[in-house]
Amino acid sequence: MTAIYLKRKITPRVQNGHPWIFRNETADGSGEGVEPGTTVDVFTYDKKFVGRGYINPKSQILVRLLTRDKNEQIDAEFFLRKLKKCWEYRQRTGYTENCRLVFGEADGLPQLIIDKFNEYFVIQTLALGIDRWKPEIVAALKTIFNPKGIYERNDVPVRELEGLTQQKGFLTDPFDTKIIIKENGLQFHVDIDQGQKTGYFLDQQDNRKAIQHIVKGADVLGAFTYTGTFEIHAAAYGAKSVIGIDISENAVEQARRNAVLNNVDNICKFETANAFDVLKQWGKDGRQYDVVMLDPPAFTKSRETIQKAITGYKEINLRGMKLVKPGGFLVSSSCTSLVHPELFMQVIDMAAKDARRNIRQVLFQTQSGDHPVIRSMENTQYLKFLIVQVQ
Ligand code: SAH
Repeated sequence: MTAIYLKRKITPRVQNGHPWIFRNETADGSGEGVEPGTTVDVFTYDKKFVGRGYINPKSQILVRLLTRDKNEQIDAEFFLRKLKKCWEYRQRTGYTENCRLVFGEADGLPQLIIDKFNEYFVIQTLALGIDRWKPEIVAALKTIFNPKGIYERNDVPVRELEGLTQQKGFLTDPFDTKIIIKENGLQFHVDIDQGQKTGYFLDQQDNRKAIQHIVKGADVLGAFTYTGTFEIHAAAYGAKSVIGIDISENAVEQARRNAVLNNVDNICKFETANAFDVLKQWGKDGRQYDVVMLDPPAFTKSRETIQKAITGYKEINLRGMKLVKPGGFLVSSSCTSLVHPELFMQVIDMAAKDARRNIRQVLFQTQSGDHPVIRSMENTQYLKFLIVQVQ
């Protein structure tokens, strides 16, 4: 097996648990001539075994580790064993019907994402070294779950950095990709072929429950609604009126269908609009809500343009806060790992200052436990979910 040697300085980070090894962290010439995607052994500069993983000399990240056990081979059994462990963890923590079954690095399976929607599975293999194990991963899913269907949502630009094409399609016999899932006693249409990412944002499942008390009897505004999940929860929890807005016509259509599915279409209305414009206009019009909920997209994907994300979050939270009645609540999410929790709170504080409102923190948490956080890998904790009372 090909051996890769770490530079002296890098060793502690990798030995302490980080699974990534960048090209410039290895002895000069490491990986040259090695077939991309194959398994390699990684050693310290003084030749002690560190771990075994997959290599891609075309990527900035040369090796991603799969095991630190010298005796563990990377083969079909390895993936079966790992997926069983992932399922055990979800069962232990109470995420069974729908869950992120595999959350990449946080499950020791770098760049592999598998979402379980009851008896259907959606899979993403985002690096070459994991992509080539797709048949074994699919076989393991079949062995453990005997699923009704498995679908690939590899239509993700990041694959191109690995020399992979963007693609999507069936990994089992074809099936109807428009399914219905249950969450917190409600039902939602999920389109696993056309929907955003894998079709549904499972990471907010606990946070949707967290609005239960504050929305009772409330007039609620939700922006960046996607398929209306937060808004439909609000209606089911006893909101007086709910309006949800999204820029995507498709999302709004799906949200309306979800409202009908849950018998809350008399309370829950949806509009296609740009949240930045609408919130500004409604502020000018003097509209007021008991609860305003915001769940905007990442705004940026790279560290270089992080200022763009900060400006976006500040602007939207400022506009949102202005629409909250005194004593009402702002429910604010941010889904990019680039904006860490402290920075996010600073952005909220700036927005409050500019809106001339005082805020009290009710709750500040992260994604649901089926997306576990590895403390030493900051991008595994990516979601911020905040509720503040706005005076
Ligand atoms: N709250 C949703 C997820 C929201 S994802 C859930 O839990 O399921 C972010 C959404 O913001 C996407 O649906 C996207 O279409 C929408 N979006 C992006 N830019 C927007 C804008 N300027 N105005 C309104 N919606 C926008």
